[in-house]
Amino acid sequence: MIALDAKANNRLAASYFDGRSAKAHTVEVWLSGDQLHIAGQAVERSINISDVQWPERTRHGRRIAHLADGGLVQTDDSAAWDAWQQANGRHDSLVVKMQQSWRTVLASMMLLAALLGAVYLWGLPMLADAAVAATPRAIDASLGQSALAAIDSRLMLPSQLSAIEQRRIELAWQQAADALPPGTAPHWTLVFRKSRIGPNAFALPDGTIVMTDDLVKLVDSDTQVLTAVLAHELGHVEHRDGLRMLVQVAVLGSISSMLLGDFSTVLAAAPALLGQAQYSREAEHQADVYSLRVLKAAHIAPSSMVTLFDKLAEQRSHGKTRTDEKPEESLLGIAFASHPTDADRIAFFKQAQP
Ligand SMILES: [Zn+2]
Repeated sequence: MIALDAKANNRLAASYFDGRSAKAHTVEVWLSGDQLHIAGQAVERSINISDVQWPERTRHGRRIAHLADGGLVQTDDSAAWDAWQQANGRHDSLVVKMQQSWRTVLASMMLLAALLGAVYLWGLPMLADAAVAATPRAIDASLGQSALAAIDSRLMLPSQLSAIEQRRIELAWQQAADALPPGTAPHWTLVFRKSRIGPNAFALPDGTIVMTDDLVKLVDSDTQVLTAVLAHELGHVEHRDGLRMLVQVAVLGSISSMLLGDFSTVLAAAPALLGQAQYSREAEHQADVYSLRVLKAAHIAPSSMVTLFDKLAEQRSHGKTRTDEKPEESLLGIAFASHPTDADRIAFFKQAQP
């Protein structure tokens, strides 16, 4: 260390400010041992290196070292400063080195993206499960009520089915639900709506199940088919899938707002997020399992669900839905018919023994 002292190029020309006056002192600075020496116009100082806050190396610009007593040493010649520091064995912190490497930056971004992907795929469902488990059922009820109000105002009109027709469907469904072991079915309420989302049904967290007039028409009021759909929706209520989805959308919204730093954008996008959100394949499968359980308990043929899948597919392929209704379907991703049914789901009901 003492040997370094002898080298002239280990002295650096700089300006010194004492922290009390605005006067710049022209000085030379050098390091020896654990001391930073500053000497020049009316200045003669030695400072412990640990009392110096060294500047991070940016690509350009002034280098300023802050001293613990409020003074500072600075130079506009960043290249000379960097060379001086390196000659003295002072290397950049890891952060600076990483910031200067675009390759590292790119890799970090990819890592972040992968991390977010992992959070979305595995972490988020786990987090949502924990949040759902910790949420009292009373919250489900109030969430359901506000969700229904929001959906009613945007997508729904009063049902045009007669009260008698509504009652007939409800009674058939009630009979099937009552066939489950006593006390096992979650609380539910069935409501009918004329809607812009085509033949459809969906469940809200409070157990409200909404069925559209178009769905009743599509299956010619076949109560066994309608019961299969309602049982599937009751499965979503039982597993609290609606609440879980709300939690996930809320968490995703918060993460993006943290990353993007603009909360208003996220809030504005929230309805669209909810519309595009859909239950996972696993959640759909579990709801199908629940539906099959109800159908078996009520001695209704599992093929009733297949009938529905067929009619929905037929309706899609023949374009009975007006083309301008298509975008509306995507507004409610949680609804039964909003996404094409896959072959596995059809096979599940086809292969089930009555
Ligand atoms: Zn479903």
